[in-house]
Amino acid sequence: MKHKNHLIAAVVIGFALLTGYLILYAFFHREKGDLIFIIFNSYALLAVVLCVVMVHRRDRNEQLKKELTHKRLTYLTQNLTAPAMLWNDSVTEVILNDALRELANIRKHEEINAKEIVPMFFGKKEAMTDADIREIVNAKNHEYSFTARGSAPRNMIWNTSAVETGEDGVTWLLSIGMDLADIRNMESKLKIYTNRLSASEDRHNLTIELMDVGLLLIEQGNPKIFTSEKLQKMFGLRSNSITVPEIRKLIYPLDAVAFDTHVQTMRSHMKHFIDKTDTLELRICSAEGQYRWYSYRYRATTYKESGRLVVGGTVIDITEEKQRDAKMEKIAYEDMVTGIPNRNKLMRMGSELYECTSELHNSYWVIVMDIDRFHLINDTCGYAAGNALLRSFADVLVKQLSQGGFGARISGDNFALILRDTGDDSLPEKIIAKVQRALLTKAVGDLSNRSLTCSAGYARMPADGDSFEHILEHAEFALSSGSNALGSVSRYTPAMHDQIIHDSNLESQLHEALSRNELELYYQPKVSLETGEIVGLEALIRWNHPSGKVISPGVFIPIAERSQLITQITRFVMYDACRQMKVWQTMGLPDTVVSINFSSTDFYQENICAQIQNALDKYGLAPSCLEIELTESLALMDIDTTIERMHELRRAGIKLAMDDFGTGYSSLSYIEQLPFSIVKLDRSFVTEMHDNPVVQEIVHSVARIAKAKQIHTIAEGVETDEQAQMLRAAGCEYAQGYLYGRPMTARQTEKFIRDSLTNKIVY
Ligand code: C2E
Ligand code: MG
Ligand code: MG
Repeated sequence: MKHKNHLIAAVVIGFALLTGYLILYAFFHREKGDLIFIIFNSYALLAVVLCVVMVHRRDRNEQLKKELTHKRLTYLTQNLTAPAMLWNDSVTEVILNDALRELANIRKHEEINAKEIVPMFFGKKEAMTDADIREIVNAKNHEYSFTARGSAPRNMIWNTSAVETGEDGVTWLLSIGMDLADIRNMESKLKIYTNRLSASEDRHNLTIELMDVGLLLIEQGNPKIFTSEKLQKMFGLRSNSITVPEIRKLIYPLDAVAFDTHVQTMRSHMKHFIDKTDTLELRICSAEGQYRWYSYRYRATTYKESGRLVVGGTVIDITEEKQRDAKMEKIAYEDMVTGIPNRNKLMRMGSELYECTSELHNSYWVIVMDIDRFHLINDTCGYAAGNALLRSFADVLVKQLSQGGFGARISGDNFALILRDTGDDSLPEKIIAKVQRALLTKAVGDLSNRSLTCSAGYARMPADGDSFEHILEHAEFALSSGSNALGSVSRYTPAMHDQIIHDSNLESQLHEALSRNELELYYQPKVSLETGEIVGLEALIRWNHPSGKVISPGVFIPIAERSQLITQITRFVMYDACRQMKVWQTMGLPDTVVSINFSSTDFYQENICAQIQNALDKYGLAPSCLEIELTESLALMDIDTTIERMHELRRAGIKLAMDDFGTGYSSLSYIEQLPFSIVKLDRSFVTEMHDNPVVQEIVHSVARIAKAKQIHTIAEGVETDEQAQMLRAAGCEYAQGYLYGRPMTARQTEKFIRDSLTNKIVY
């Protein structure tokens, strides 16, 4: 930098000397040259010099601006008392505050390497990927374990938010850590502090003896209040006797009501306070002109001689204790991103309220809400927009509490409300509808409006459970058992438990269904959006129940998954689909790909690859004829095993599809990270695409990312031409849905394929 400055200075001086020389030369040799031409040249040179200087200045200003932002962020981090670090998303720089350095045994000026230190704090052994960073920003209550040099392992919860994105596109992230051991000690510490405050009575007595303390005496019938010298210094008073209005002027406006009530009670009931010690805590303007917290610990007594009543006590500055308490409360009970209470606080409040319900005979509503597809919005629009959305949602919730109630963020995008039950059974739904309406007015990143929805589940307290914990669980259960539709609202009912009993009956029948050959595969075509050709078939299972009903997989697959029957069902599907493919090949139908659906239990079986190979071998089919559909929730279960297993299948030549993309905790990073050959956009995207810009944006992004990774895209549940057109425009390659063909029996499928070959079907 210095070097550059010298160079520029040298250029400027050089040009100045040259210009001066030219002007002098022109002046003394007017006859030889053209004066005007030379002067013009001199000015041109001057302009060049000015340009160089301006460009240099602009560079410097930009550099200064960058340095300023950096300094501001560093200052912010350093001033946090909790362990914190500021790091950039390319993991090239990191700043640890003193608290974190102390925690990790890193000396104050010790050089650190961001690439080593940042992953270490998040318990990672390898370098951080974009997906890791996204996961860290999304995971709000995840525990990370790390072992600092020379000390025992620690479990931390990191709250990470994006604080600044520079013009260079680098995002700075602030991670504030909470040592779990600290949190667990927090409550007991809070108690100790409270005790310490009450123990300050002894301290008062001692300080009175030492006399260097603020004393305040109020005598019955005397409008003046006596103040000690120390007290006068504390509050900048000019005399040792002041009036109540004079002292009131110094009190913080919000505390004035407490003060008035107190004075009034004292005046009318002073006698009741005889020999009782009490405390009044207020914020008062100090001599330095700042409001500080003071504790007035007093008792009433009578003058021995006159028998007149007098209230007297000491005033001490408790600002530091108050700040410490507030800070502890904040860390233990406040959600860092939204500033509203967290799950700990909700559990505490909820349990207290639950205890009171039996005595007070009142009841409450416990509502749990979840922002639909928050993870996708977070990934598509960025963390900063995700955090902003969480804050907006918290804002919306808090607004519902005007008539009393309690709101908290309980995890990721889950929020809870406790509302007083006023006897109106429709209250929860009304409040939820209000939140949903308010949410529609919020903007996310560049995408404004109309598209944000949330789902909710609720339960009544104390009727719906025998502890607050149970009731919250039941509300969460209602939320998860609500329909998959966006914005679904469900109330917890005991019938939700009856469902479990119904399922167990079905389970025992399902055992027999296998041996009685009641299961049958249907096939649904997948077509190219460009050419209309059939590109594959999805095998979908049906249960021909002895009652004559055809039971859909949505009903019995979840039951089979719970009872391990799924392994036998998947085996049947695998062999039967391969057998059918061979039959069609032998009939001379064109080769196509059949896809089968896998459950997580299937996928995690040790020898699954060998089993698939056996099925293919038995019918002499090439592995390229088979595709396996996995859901994203499966990928989430154990990411390392998932990746390993997927690579094994891909190496064997088997295709892999990510099914129902967008329904659960989908993350665009799965497409980037996992070796899928095709992504299947869930049906809900197709139905909502028409009037939801967020969904449109997501579909575009998925298609774009997939294309870059050479992964195909298919949309499920296409029912109309308009949907097909929008998908085509969004860059989606294939489609599956009633528009092209419903799931059909093997025989109907055969006819369908033949018809499509003879062009009887036009898409
Ligand atoms: P999936 O794999 O996402 O299958 C797509 C589902 O959407 C099928 O429902 C299909 O009939 C339905 N569908 C297709 N096009 C349309 C459309 O245009 N409109 C509407 N409304 N629906 C459409 P299905 O057959 O009831 O299967 C439901 C789910 O059950 C499947 O979802 C899959 O997850 C599971 N499943 C089906 N067969 C098997 C199986 O053999 N093994 C396992 N583990 N799961 C299976
Ligand atoms: Mg499927
Ligand atoms: Mg699907």
